[in-house]
Amino acid sequence: MSADTAQDPTRHRVVILGSGPAGLTAALYNARAGLEPLVLEGLQPGGQLTITTDVENFPGFPQGILGPELMDRMRQQVQRFGASVKFELANEVDLSKRPFTIRTDEGQYLADSLIIATGAAARLLGLPSEEHLMGYGVSACATCDGFFFKGKEIAVVGGGDSAMEEATYLTKFASKVTVIHRREELRASKIMQERALKNDKVEFLWNKNVAEILGSRKEGVHALRLKDTKTGEESTFQTQGIFMAIGHKPNTEIFEGQLDLDEVGYIEVKSPSTTTGVEGVFACGDAMDPTYRQAITAAGSGCAAAIDAERWLEEQD
Ligand code: NAP
Repeated sequence: MSADTAQDPTRHRVVILGSGPAGLTAALYNARAGLEPLVLEGLQPGGQLTITTDVENFPGFPQGILGPELMDRMRQQVQRFGASVKFELANEVDLSKRPFTIRTDEGQYLADSLIIATGAAARLLGLPSEEHLMGYGVSACATCDGFFFKGKEIAVVGGGDSAMEEATYLTKFASKVTVIHRREELRASKIMQERALKNDKVEFLWNKNVAEILGSRKEGVHALRLKDTKTGEESTFQTQGIFMAIGHKPNTEIFEGQLDLDEVGYIEVKSPSTTTGVEGVFACGDAMDPTYRQAITAAGSGCAAAIDAERWLEEQD
């Protein structure tokens, strides 16, 4: 089935927005329940795991598995049970009446129930120089861009698991990686900290914020202007690249004004369910979870959303 024209949308029992572990697990459960869900994959099919390398904490893979491979397997599993998966991005929704309307660049769809699994995206510092030099020495994805920094000295901003993971991964390419953190204590889990701390190529700069990235699109990045978070003192740090690993923000802009969002943008659900403030709309994964944000918890909440949607549809029938 496809959306032929804006005037002739197809109607579905369940439409799922997003194709990370949450969206695909929801699709798996709804497909096995015979609901023939439609999955609109979004801009990044497979979600954030497709831009990571080894996943070592997803149960069932004792040797670990590559993120893209895990997501490819999930997609195959979902399709085996009859879910329809489309590479389309929902850019507008109308949740004011049922069936709900979802608009993409290709057309529009009607949904009796909607599962939101739109995930989260990398957070940036918000500096004009960061925006100007993105892709010219500034990156937010080590697995995408690490290769371009072979033999170079680079910096990673952040003190969480992402920063440790990216810093460790980037030592495959870079001659030196300096983690720049705004405090003197890491937020990352013990195992990730230890891995980075014992890596000879990883160094740490504590209590520093990046105030500006120095460079040009022609020459790339050559230095950073840093500000000490304790003394306010400014300094210049020579580096040939900078990776942002300062967390993520939920992809929920299109629901603003229609669903209850917290101050960061996470969708509020009636815990312990995945029910949102709008009947028939369910949310799962990183779009609603400011606490755990793991592939396995996203998959778990995707399962819960599928069951919630299925039960709700049964009640309507
Ligand atoms: P996070 O845990 O929220 O950490 C973000 C880090 O960036 C913090 O250290 C924070 O500093 C810093 N930061 C935030 N805004 C900043 C700013 N404007 N300027 C400078 N620094 C800033 O995010 P994450 O590391 O992306 O991890 C998110 C979740 O994914 C976590 O639950 C994590 O466990 C999980 N994760 C797991 C793995 C794994 O197990 N393999 C890998 C990656 C992520 P403060 O500490 O001062 O707040």
